[in-house]
Amino acid sequence: MRALDLLLPERCVVCERPGRALCSECQGELTWLLPPLCERCGSPGPWPVRRCAECAGRRLAFVEARSAIVYDTGARAFVRGWKERGRRGLAREAARLVVKTIPKPEAACLVPVPGDPERARERGDVPARALARELAAMWGIAMLDALERTQSLPRQRGLSLHERRRNVRGSVVAREAMPPDVCVVDDVYTSGATADACAAACRRFGARRVRVVTLTRAVR
Ligand SMILES: [Zn+2]
Ligand SMILES: [Zn+2]
Repeated sequence: MRALDLLLPERCVVCERPGRALCSECQGELTWLLPPLCERCGSPGPWPVRRCAECAGRRLAFVEARSAIVYDTGARAFVRGWKERGRRGLAREAARLVVKTIPKPEAACLVPVPGDPERARERGDVPARALARELAAMWGIAMLDALERTQSLPRQRGLSLHERRRNVRGSVVAREAMPPDVCVVDDVYTSGATADACAAACRRFGARRVRVVTLTRAVR
């Protein structure tokens, strides 16, 4: 958090109006990700399915992924502001959006997706950890911050889905044993590659069923 943020009144991260970290007008612009969904990857569709065009044929280490809002223009502006400013109030707004839409997961603990070791130092706390901490408080589930990246990832933007998946596979490890049911938490679900790599790490370290919760999700 910058010292300046302590002195200035809270402003909406999207439109800069003074008041809440996300004003009600900008919240109203967000698109809720509501059923029917793919049971497995959480992609929305015309009816509920167990596998969808996006996840069929993919080996995914998690049993279920759910997100609160569609990663569209409004969500992008929110996440960009959150990452740039790293304010605590934004993590709380994000957690409120998640709790409004997604039922409390069956999990003994919430496991944040680890930040990139190099970029985390630039920005301070990573959104995934801040979100997991707020969700842990709201849902009454423990937080287990036990994953870490073994290497700094090249930027994912501009890479094909296949390249993204190959990039992150095997790049995450757990520092301690995991209980059987855990829930991985991240800010954005794009290709699912990061969630998959984290879920795989949880399973290598003892988890049997891994769920995934993110604030927002890219919808194709
Ligand atoms: Zn606003
Ligand atoms: Zn799917």
